[in-house]
Amino acid sequence: MKPIRYPVNDCYPCVQGEGMQTGVAMVLLRLQGCEVKCPYCDTRETWSLDTVHQVAPLTAALGATPRYACLTAEQIAGHITARHRGPAWVLVTGGEPARYDLRPLAVQLRARGFKIALETSGTATGHLHAGLDWVCVSPKIDMPGGKAINAEVLAGADEIKHVVATPRDIEALDKLLADHTVKKTVQICLQPVSLNDAATALCLQTVIRRGWRLSVQLHKYLGSR
Ligand code: SF4
Repeated sequence: MKPIRYPVNDCYPCVQGEGMQTGVAMVLLRLQGCEVKCPYCDTRETWSLDTVHQVAPLTAALGATPRYACLTAEQIAGHITARHRGPAWVLVTGGEPARYDLRPLAVQLRARGFKIALETSGTATGHLHAGLDWVCVSPKIDMPGGKAINAEVLAGADEIKHVVATPRDIEALDKLLADHTVKKTVQICLQPVSLNDAATALCLQTVIRRGWRLSVQLHKYLGSR
């Protein structure tokens, strides 16, 4: 059977800027392709899998562009091991990385000693049973792509990181939590949309009132990716 080839959009060492692991050094691995279509998405270049943007080698894809290179799990793990040996973690993000079967990738990264974190919209299941070390679900509720939040994915989340623009977004999260089972230990972060001041004030008030956590996209304040 042919090995899965993952469309890699970008791969670079950084400091996690969002959620519970803010400040932790990680190698960010961004996979191409997303059909969720969030209006506020700040990585729109990762949406399309048009073959016109497929390139080789991987170095031709790197950077914030729609280009991607298709690599096996072994090739990706080899690239990270050779070029980015410092961080203990690999952060798999997108696009929507869970649209792919992430089990082979997890096997290869784990074999090289990395811990694996995932950021997913909650609308795809490719990470289930991959034994990832940290799963952050940023639930994209009622987005134009029409993708539903998967109950099993939400139940497996270590962290729920919710993007907030208005009080309606808090209400939508409350309804999601009321309608689904989540881990007792799940950590909930509110993240103001696009550094918006009103949204930041709303998130701040809400996390203090509820004992949740604020996620402020540290990388944007630092001017890094
Ligand atoms: S799920 Fe993520 S990558 Fe996809 S549209 Fe939404 S914010 Fe963008």
